[in-house]
Amino acid sequence: MPTSRVDTALLATAWLLVCATLLTLAAAGDAGAPLWSMLTALVVLGALIHRHAKRNSAPALCPPRPLQPLHASLADELAGIGRWSFDPATGRHRWSREVCRIAGLPPMTAPEAKCLQELMPQGLQQMQVILAGHARDRETYAVEFEIENPQLGTRLLRARARNLFSLEGVCEQVLMVVRDVTEEYSQVARIEQERAAAVREADEARQLANTDALTGLANRRSAMQALDREIMCARQSGDPLALLVFDVDHFKAVNDTHGHTQGDLVLAEIGSIIRRQKRDGQFAARVGGEEFLMILPGADGRAASAAAERLRLAIDHGTRMADAPSVTVSVGHAALGPRDTSLTLFARADEALYAAKRGGRNQVRLAA
Ligand code: GH3
Ligand code: MG
Ligand code: MG
Repeated sequence: MPTSRVDTALLATAWLLVCATLLTLAAAGDAGAPLWSMLTALVVLGALIHRHAKRNSAPALCPPRPLQPLHASLADELAGIGRWSFDPATGRHRWSREVCRIAGLPPMTAPEAKCLQELMPQGLQQMQVILAGHARDRETYAVEFEIENPQLGTRLLRARARNLFSLEGVCEQVLMVVRDVTEEYSQVARIEQERAAAVREADEARQLANTDALTGLANRRSAMQALDREIMCARQSGDPLALLVFDVDHFKAVNDTHGHTQGDLVLAEIGSIIRRQKRDGQFAARVGGEEFLMILPGADGRAASAAAERLRLAIDHGTRMADAPSVTVSVGHAALGPRDTSLTLFARADEALYAAKRGGRNQVRLAA
């Protein structure tokens, strides 16, 4: 019978007995009969309460059962983790079924010497060297070694290892938990390659943005940044600093006579000559159509004047030798003064350049 119907029947019986008792009492008849009815009602009510308590109490918990070896190896397989132990005294290896799967070996293959040698032509020695290096460690440490998986080729395994010591402090066993990290590793390597390529591209883009394509020298934007930087260094060190500004003489006539392409060749040749003339720490740039500059850190007026003259002669001589129309340049130079900024220094050198032009071109002038 369903539980609820039994309850209803018991409850009804109890009520009937209670009512009968009360009626009998009211009729004031035999005193024994109501007592029996009352007792029976109490027994029925008790049974009812007991059934309720039993039904509402929490179900009994099953006692936990210990994990079976099957569960452990299933857990290993799900996590892709192999267990591998090494006995330093005997040199004996033992491993779990999952190591066989990771290594591409038939299940239950024993780690005998021949099998280990085939599996780890280099890795076995790698592993033993690492384990020997950690022989006294009481903390967990990492071990990485390579194996030759017959199906997948070379695989990289990464292990977390712990030494198990005897009471006398002798390392009796090294226990390792091993994972195949080949994909993870190549993913990390790929990300690192992509990052390096992105950095390289950004460097190239920055380089391109700062370079004049025709001459390969720095452009005006980067020249002004370099001048600011060098002025700051000169202020800090107290060293002198000079600036040369030079411009090709009658370049319009070169274009008009030989054509624009020949004019470009001349500019490219001047770029090469400047690069050859430039010393370590000096900075050269093309700052306009046929206008250039050179920053000479550490150069006083005399040194700058000599460098300017060297440059003028080099361009005169160099372009005469080159397979392009020959040209000369006029040069103005200025030494950094205490109140100079990059703009005023540049303006003073430029003023000297125009003085050289006015003076007849193909010459060097020092700024006032
Ligand atoms: P000055 O001696 O006074 O400097 O005379 P100039 O003819 O050199 O000066 P001007 O300013 O009159 O002419 C400069 C010429 O340089 C005009 C312009 O076409 C040429 N030029 C500027 N940039 C380039 C370039 O990239 N390639 C070529 N081929 N010519 C250029
Ligand atoms: Mg010119
Ligand atoms: Mg010019």
